[in-house]
Amino acid sequence: MTRIAIVGAGPAGLSLAYFLKGSRKVEATVYESMPEPGLKPCAWGLITGIENIIPIPNETIISEIRGFRIYLDNKLVFDIRTDNKLGYIIDKPLFLKRLSQEVNVEFNSKVVKKDDKYYINDKSLDHDKVIFATGHYSVSKSMSIPAIQYITDYEIDKEVVEFYFYSGFLGYAWVFPDREGSKIGIGGYAEVPELKERLKQILKGRIRTFHGARVTDYGVIEDRLDGNYTGEALGTVYAITGEGIRPSIISSKILADSILNRKDFKKEFKKSKLYWSLNWHAKIIKMTKENDPGTARLSKALLNNDPQLILKFAIGEFNRVDLIKIFGRSLI
Ligand SMILES: Cc1cc2nc3c(=O)[nH]c(=O)nc-3n(C[C@H](O)[C@H](O)[C@H](O)COP(=O)(O)OP(=O)(O)OC[C@H]3O[C@@H](n4cnc5c(N)ncnc54)[C@H](O)[C@@H]3O)c2cc1C
Repeated sequence: MTRIAIVGAGPAGLSLAYFLKGSRKVEATVYESMPEPGLKPCAWGLITGIENIIPIPNETIISEIRGFRIYLDNKLVFDIRTDNKLGYIIDKPLFLKRLSQEVNVEFNSKVVKKDDKYYINDKSLDHDKVIFATGHYSVSKSMSIPAIQYITDYEIDKEVVEFYFYSGFLGYAWVFPDREGSKIGIGGYAEVPELKERLKQILKGRIRTFHGARVTDYGVIEDRLDGNYTGEALGTVYAITGEGIRPSIISSKILADSILNRKDFKKEFKKSKLYWSLNWHAKIIKMTKENDPGTARLSKALLNNDPQLILKFAIGEFNRVDLIKIFGRSLI
């Protein structure tokens, strides 16, 4: 029996323990520094399809998303409504709490490294393997961008999410429905005071909370593909959208399957659509920062194409032909 310590009870760490559960080969325990799960700032948006990988209990679903609105410089450019369920707004703390009830977790357990050994409250970790699901906390600042968010009582249509883009700004603001009111946030390539200033233009309602965190925009961190990292600590966030919950859970599924089937995680992960699509997002962000700082070409590509195609790109469900259609042959 291999004893595994998983550090971090976010979506990546808890789902990894969930996928390993029941195996006679491994015994996993999650160690989390905070007293409860889900305290990290997040807008709680989840793309549909993830329920085929991990159960999303009904009680954790705040709303089903069936439409989206895109604004450019505060002018509405797309207002898309579909009969299909595109995603969910989940109560992420409750989702993580339910998941944590199914696995072994110890809260208030910060893992620290001293002289090449790991400790929790001065007690050394004697597990056979330690896996880091520590999110952006373990990623350098140069590989991430800031994101901030107000939680307000402003009510919007529970089935719609709104995205706000601005000429010359790489990043976007969002308004996502909450159980009551909404989450109004922004993330991008600017310092927090500038993000706050931009957000003022769309901020509505009475503010309940303000918080923020960094989001990894680097793509997959190659030297962490050794099977000791998963989730955002491995770079599994779509750089253009900042979506990290679903990719982190998928990375943990690939890691759990590799552990249980004694396969090489690096090989398995590199074969995955997730790896390929995450890296394309990161590559496009990098090229935009270097060659298109005013974001004119990126905005044109994203706003002058069929919204359904852009949606496919945004959620990582694209292929090579889609990339050529959106960005042109010269990109590839
Ligand atoms: C403002 C904002 C809005 C966002 N909105 C969305 C969204 O709507 N949809 C989406 O998909 N993604 C969103 N994201 C990104 C998403 O929150 C993350 O990518 C996702 O939570 C990553 O999951 P994870 O499990 O890898 O890491 P995390 O959720 O960051 O979990 C890591 C855990 O590890 C713990 N930890 C860290 N170090 C230690 C240690 N040394 N010892 C013990 N525990 C430790 C932390 O306390 C934390 O609980 C948003 C991010 C931000 C900042």
